[in-house]
Amino acid sequence: MNGHYDIAIVGGGLAGGLIALAVRRAHPAMRVALIEAGEAFGGNHRWSWFDSDIDDSSSALLGAFPARMWHGGNEVRFPSYTRRLEADYRSLDSRDFDATLRRLLPQDAILTGSRVASLSADAVEIAGGRRIEAARIVDCRSAPPSWHLTGGWQAFTGQTWRMDRPHGLAHPVIMDATVDQIDGYRFMYLLPLGETELFLEDTYYQDTPRLDRATLETRIARYVAGKGWKGEVIHAETGMLPVITGGDFDAHRAALEVPGVALAGARGGFVHPLTSYTVPIAVANALAIADIAADCDGPALARFVSERARRHWSATGFYRLLGKMLFGAARPEERYRIFERFYRLPEPLIERFYAARSTPADKLRVLAGKPPVPVMRAMGALLGKGAPLVQEGRR
Ligand SMILES: Cc1cc2nc3c(=O)[nH]c(=O)nc-3n(C[C@H](O)[C@H](O)[C@H](O)COP(=O)(O)OP(=O)(O)OC[C@H]3O[C@@H](n4cnc5c(N)ncnc54)[C@H](O)[C@@H]3O)c2cc1C
Repeated sequence: MNGHYDIAIVGGGLAGGLIALAVRRAHPAMRVALIEAGEAFGGNHRWSWFDSDIDDSSSALLGAFPARMWHGGNEVRFPSYTRRLEADYRSLDSRDFDATLRRLLPQDAILTGSRVASLSADAVEIAGGRRIEAARIVDCRSAPPSWHLTGGWQAFTGQTWRMDRPHGLAHPVIMDATVDQIDGYRFMYLLPLGETELFLEDTYYQDTPRLDRATLETRIARYVAGKGWKGEVIHAETGMLPVITGGDFDAHRAALEVPGVALAGARGGFVHPLTSYTVPIAVANALAIADIAADCDGPALARFVSERARRHWSATGFYRLLGKMLFGAARPEERYRIFERFYRLPEPLIERFYAARSTPADKLRVLAGKPPVPVMRAMGALLGKGAPLVQEGRR
C-alpha cells in the first residue's frame, strides 16, 4: 500500500518518537508517519533525565510516557567525598516508550520493521519497494560516525539485576567514581528500580570507541559482589556515544543533509556535547517542530530545524571546550578529578550545566580556581585538533 502523509518521520528512536507524538497532539488532523527499521520504537535503551533539565511544556509531553520517578534527590560518590543533590530524577525504559507510542499514535502512523532505503524532499522508499509520500520529511535516523567532528567516547554497559533480597538503595547514584579508574574517567551508575531490582551501568569516558562487553559485565558482577548483593541479570544494554569536543559542524550537517528534508535527532547534532545526553534537547525540539509544522512546507521546516541546530551548536561551545580539556589535558587515570571538582560547585550551577543552559557566570565559576590538570597541558589541549569521531574500519 502506498501512503500520502502530511509529515513522515524517519527513525523511530527518542527524537523521532517525540516529534511524532508532539505533532499528533498539536495537530490531530495532520497525517503522521513514524517509520522505524526495527520491530520496536526506541531500540533497547533506558533514557534518564533530571526534572530540572526540562520546562513545563517539555514535562507535559514526556508525561505521556510512564517514566520511573525518584523524589528526594540523587547522589554522587568520589574518592574524597559523597554528595547528596536535591534534583528529582526520572528514567524511561524504551519498551514503555514503544508501548506508549503504539497506544497514542493512530494505527496508520506506525510503520515499524520498515528500513528506509532512500529519502527525498517529498518521498521515502522503504527497502522492499514500498513508497511513502509526504509533504514534510524529518530525518531522525541513527547518528553515524563523523569525520568532521572531533572528540572522545562514552562507552557503557548497563544491566538490570534482580537481587535475592532488598538492595537497600533508595535514590539514584548518578556517579560512583570510587571504582578503579581504568581507560579514562570510569564510574558506576545505579538506579534502584524496585526494592530488589537495581540497574547498574559501568561507564568510561575513553579515547577510542572500544567496548569489551564481557569485561564490563565481569566488572559489574564484581561491584555487585563487593556490595554484598546477590542476584541475577534480567536485562542488559550497551552504548557507545560520541563526546563532541570540536570540528566543523556545517561540514558535518552538509554530509548528512538531504535537500528539503529536516535533519533532526542526535544525527542532526541535537546532543549535549559533553554528557552525550539528548532528552531535554529532543523534547524541546519536538515541541518547536510541532509548533510550526502545520504552517510551513517541507523545505521551510528543513531550514527551521537547520537554524535551530546551528544555534544549538553555537550555544554549546563551552561544553566542547571542557570536553577538550577532559580528553586532551587530563591523563585517563586523572580525568575523574575534573568531575570531582565540578561536583563541589553549587547545585543550581550543576543543574544548568546538565540542561546545557549554563550562564556566563556559571562558565567563569567552572573555569575559576586551581585547575585540576596542569595549565600547560590544558593549553596544549585547547590548541590541539582532536581525533575524528569515527569507529575503526567505518567511513
Ligand atoms: C544505551 C543508551 C542509553 C542512553 N541513555 C541516555 C540517557 O539516560 N539520557 C539521555 O538523555 N540520553 C541517553 N542516551 C543518549 C541519547 O539520548 C540516545 O542515543 C537517543 O536515543 C538518541 O535519540 P535519536 O532519536 O536521535 O537516535 P536513536 O534513538 O538512535 O534513534 C534512531 C532510530 O533510527 C532508526 N533507523 C536507523 N536507520 C534507519 C533506516 N534506514 N530506516 C528507518 N529507521 C532507521 C534506528 O533503528 C533507531 O531506532 C543513551 C544512549 C544509549 C545508546
